[in-house]
Amino acid sequence: MNSYLKLSQVAVEKLAEQYGTPLLVVSTEQVERNYAFMEENLPGVKLYYAVKANPNEGIIRKLAELGSYFDVASDGEMQFLTEVGIEPERMVYANPVKTPNGLKVAKETGIYKFTFDSESEISKMAKAIPGGSVLLRVRVDNPKALVDLNKKFGAHPDDALHLLKLAREQGLDVAGLCFHVGSQSSSANAYVAALKICRRLFDEAKLAGFNMRILDIGGGFPIPSITETIDISAMIKVIRETVTQYFPDTEIWAEPGRFMCGTVSNLITSVIGTQRRDGNQWYFLDDGLYGTFSGVIFDHWDFELETFKSGEKIPATFAGPSCDSLDIMFFDKMITPLDIGDLILVPNCGAYTSASATVFNGFAKTPIVIWEEVKDTLGLK
Ligand SMILES: *Cc1c(COP(=O)(O)O)cnc(C)c1O
Repeated sequence: MNSYLKLSQVAVEKLAEQYGTPLLVVSTEQVERNYAFMEENLPGVKLYYAVKANPNEGIIRKLAELGSYFDVASDGEMQFLTEVGIEPERMVYANPVKTPNGLKVAKETGIYKFTFDSESEISKMAKAIPGGSVLLRVRVDNPKALVDLNKKFGAHPDDALHLLKLAREQGLDVAGLCFHVGSQSSSANAYVAALKICRRLFDEAKLAGFNMRILDIGGGFPIPSITETIDISAMIKVIRETVTQYFPDTEIWAEPGRFMCGTVSNLITSVIGTQRRDGNQWYFLDDGLYGTFSGVIFDHWDFELETFKSGEKIPATFAGPSCDSLDIMFFDKMITPLDIGDLILVPNCGAYTSASATVFNGFAKTPIVIWEEVKDTLGLK
């Protein structure tokens, strides 16, 4: 799996001329390739796209058309997907701590599948959606993830049975377990460890009279990064084989976020200022840390910058357009010297980028065009 959207120089120039910069370009065909890869490599697994990674409507519609399910975490995501026409049966409200309005919207829209990891959540769910189907999120430790989600979420395995019993007492349908190994996991080890823990808990639950039928193995599947090469096929093969070994008869779900959308988007941004400050070269761009590059902070992500220029590279500092000094994306980034107006292409920026962008300082969110909708009118391939 090494296909990703990468626009040519001609395409970048034409798109910038037509739409201006900054501009995000999303390929729904790449969404399709990513979905097909997951379907092929995790056959029979129900794929719940984690909407928070990139809620772009073009991506959601394409995935809906392909038969995907969706992992939603808020009232806004549930309402948006409902407006797009996605049925409630295709959504799981997978936020372990739900808001009152989130539960209200779930009830109104007919969403009845939830995850939880604490005692206090049980009566909230039971009151809002009596008899709802629930998965207990189990804590798994994974030092190899880029973003550790297990600090904040997941019940300790020792507490699992107690929580399952409480959920049953309150009339909830105890459907199974879920976990999330952390985002951008670079190895299958954490999945294997989590699967072993879940097998033990399924067996213990069976002895306690439960008939759990669903295991949700979460997200975390990596996208290509510039700092690390990961053999995603080999990694998923290990996960698939372990799932088959430990859970041959269980319905399996996965919640890929970044894998599904990371490679589908390119950013086109322009140099709007160049300076030398204290002997260092600085470039100011028209998109920044409060915009598409928000992933530098929230996702600890390092982005690849492509310049279409040749020449010896120099270390440079890259800053965004706002008047805040926090708005610096990269220090000592090696780059061919740039001038005002030069275009920069940033591939692999579909996950946790526009999703966490703000409109701080009056800079609008970077507009998004769908590559397959615009390329023909611009005479591009
Ligand atoms: C964020 C999230 C995901 C997606 O994680 P990725 O690492 O982007 O695949 C899946 N499930 C839950 C519950 C999440 O919070």
